[in-house]
Amino acid sequence: MTKKIVVLPGDGIGPEIMNEASRVLDVVNQSHKLGIEVDTHAFGGASYDIDGKPLTETALAACREADAILMGSIGGPQYDTAPRELRPERGLLRLRSELDLFSNLRPAMLFPELASASSLKSELVAGLDLMILRELTGGIYFGQPRGEETVDGKRMSFNTMVYNEDEIERIARSGFEIARSRNKRLCSVDKANVLEVSELWRAVVIEVSKDYPDIELSHMYVDNAAMQLVREPKQFDVIVTSNLFGDILSDAAAMLTGSIGMLPSASLDKNGKGLYEPVHGSAPDIAGQGVANPLATILSLSMMLRYTLKEAAAADAIDKAVSAVISGGTRCRDIASGQANETVVGTVEMGDAVIAALGNA
Ligand code: NAD
Repeated sequence: MTKKIVVLPGDGIGPEIMNEASRVLDVVNQSHKLGIEVDTHAFGGASYDIDGKPLTETALAACREADAILMGSIGGPQYDTAPRELRPERGLLRLRSELDLFSNLRPAMLFPELASASSLKSELVAGLDLMILRELTGGIYFGQPRGEETVDGKRMSFNTMVYNEDEIERIARSGFEIARSRNKRLCSVDKANVLEVSELWRAVVIEVSKDYPDIELSHMYVDNAAMQLVREPKQFDVIVTSNLFGDILSDAAAMLTGSIGMLPSASLDKNGKGLYEPVHGSAPDIAGQGVANPLATILSLSMMLRYTLKEAAAADAIDKAVSAVISGGTRCRDIASGQANETVVGTVEMGDAVIAALGNA
């Protein structure tokens, strides 16, 4: 059966890194007989330059129809003066909300050979592979009422942390499904000792767990989770949490790895359809120089194959190829540490190395 994916290269280093991910996709598409069709659209600043808006209706319709979307990166200083509603980020926010992408997946993984890039001791992070699942469209960032008032002559402002049981149930299901495709352990992070909203969160997660008897569920308060992430991050497999807690914990976890050019991410809807993209931005400082690290985008492709297209063998092949390239000492500039066994290469050579490793797999 044919599967359709939309590719959105975007701005800055976006087209350079996407070029390498597309070459890798071509290879696994053939070798694993995936039957994937690719439709490419301008997005972000690139779309604004051509059509005057960051996301055209044509591109949006193509994304709606597709099984999955692979994005490079968007933005750049040249768009800072564009009208706010036409800036590249607005295109991304609209895409996420139009497709109801409520579940944000941020893996924090660290190849053993890159452990020295972390701010933690190597033995604590070498081989780290944890997934943080953050609820993306509810909670305190969207809750009503919100605002500010003057009460008794003093300024006061407020936000509301609110979840209904449906919102919790769908992110919990997403968490259990992800855990099922990994090491079958899910840790739900909340603040149920203080917040009513967390009490409901915990209760609903426990209810949903009845449908997933094969997954080991645990609960942790968010303050403890923050401590545990820096004390012993390898204890976690999948963490599921609310918008605010996930925002903070996922950034902390990403920094454990110390290499932003290596980190993929995804945002999924309730059917598992997803937008996959590297965590990093468009890196205008190095755009056009051929030095950007394409591995975060290549690993985003592998996540897309694993979590949306359910092509685990192709995803495993890509992950193994990247791992072999790193073990062999090939490095883009951002992950080079100056050791004698390293070969520092550019964007295209890194793509070549992954493709060569795929051939040897
Ligand atoms: P950035 O992630 O683009 O860059 C931060 C630093 O990391 C830079 O020094 C850059 O050279 C380096 N870097 C990033 N990706 C790299 C890669 N693949 N290989 C090697 N080095 C890499 O963050 P920024 O500079 O704060 O933002 C630049 C632009 O990107 C802004 O317009 C911002 O709005 C946008 N942005 C977009 C996204 C997205 O597309 N989802 C995310 C974050 C930022």
